[in-house]
Amino acid sequence: MDFDGARARLVADLRQSRFIKDDMVADAMLKVPREQFVPRSMREEAYTDSPLSIGSGQTISAPHMVAIMVEASQLKSGHKVLEIGAGSGYHAAVVAELVRPGGRVFTVERVASLAKFAGDNINRTGYGNTVQIICGDGSNGLPEEAPFDRIFVACAAPDVPMPLKAQLADGGRLLVPVGGRYFQKLMLVERKGSKFNQEDLGGCVFVPLIGEHGYRTSSM
Ligand code: SAH
Repeated sequence: MDFDGARARLVADLRQSRFIKDDMVADAMLKVPREQFVPRSMREEAYTDSPLSIGSGQTISAPHMVAIMVEASQLKSGHKVLEIGAGSGYHAAVVAELVRPGGRVFTVERVASLAKFAGDNINRTGYGNTVQIICGDGSNGLPEEAPFDRIFVACAAPDVPMPLKAQLADGGRLLVPVGGRYFQKLMLVERKGSKFNQEDLGGCVFVPLIGEHGYRTSSM
């Protein structure tokens, strides 16, 4: 299969439907080989615009959802970024493209087998110097590395987790899906000093954030 051609077509479609408006975001998504972040048996489906199963009941987000979050975050080179929910590592790799040179991406994953999967994918594709994967409950953030210029939560929370707001740098942006288990609103939280402005970017569906500042159990 011609993965490069399929990737170029997907990015062109995401531009046409206005999920991607920024050339830098388009370039980043043209560079990251999504087929390297899905299980081997699903490589041929890597460029359909949908979430795909990565095991342990979890999914790699649909490309348009990664585009929406990354566009809204306005990433710049040098940014220090936290992601909650490494999953496949794909979103972290796209972010890495945009924060290089000088930036860092810390991504926390609670499922050990997925933390390993993400780490293998990140190292194989050459993002290991920029992206660090931590296995644990990301609903507490990563206080030892705070503050962060940008924070992405790739799973759905009942409310904006307090520790994540506290770990946002002044002027920083946090993207988090907030709501019930089956439908959420993607919230953009912007910190201005001690003020937090919130904007609803629209409906979305993510797997739940399981942890101290998320849902308490994985049972549906
Ligand atoms: N960003 C990923 C998609 C992740 S799906 C990608 O690009 O592939 C959401 C992930 O969040 C799942 O892997 C799930 O295990 C993880 N997750 C759920 N609750 C978590 C928590 N409290 N801390 C860290 N990871 C969590």
